[in-house]
Amino acid sequence: MLEHITASEVAGYGVGALLLCATISAPKIDSFISASQRSSLGMCKKCGDLRLIACSNCKGSGSLRQDGIFSLIPSDEVSFLGKSKMSSLSCNKCRARGNFPCPECSKVSST
Ligand SMILES: [Zn+2]
Ligand SMILES: [Zn+2]
Repeated sequence: MLEHITASEVAGYGVGALLLCATISAPKIDSFISASQRSSLGMCKKCGDLRLIACSNCKGSGSLRQDGIFSLIPSDEVSFLGKSKMSSLSCNKCRARGNFPCPECSKVSST
């Protein structure tokens, strides 16, 4: 039935599958190691003792670029509408601070 598949081909598939698994799991392993390294160093797992976590909504900048309708308008028309209106939209998730206090660290400090 499967005699046309040679042993070397089977081995090749095995190695390919292993490499695929390694590629998929590599970022997870990396984050796991860095987290365990941080904890072994007595650092916060979440923020690395920065006590702040960057806002994912504005990526730590505190303001949001208002994409969408403005990006479709030619740049001279955008300046006519007012560039400040477009670029200075403050992030309401972090209240324009760009970061949050780390929940793990605030837990420790409150005790
Ligand atoms: Zn934000
Ligand atoms: Zn922390």
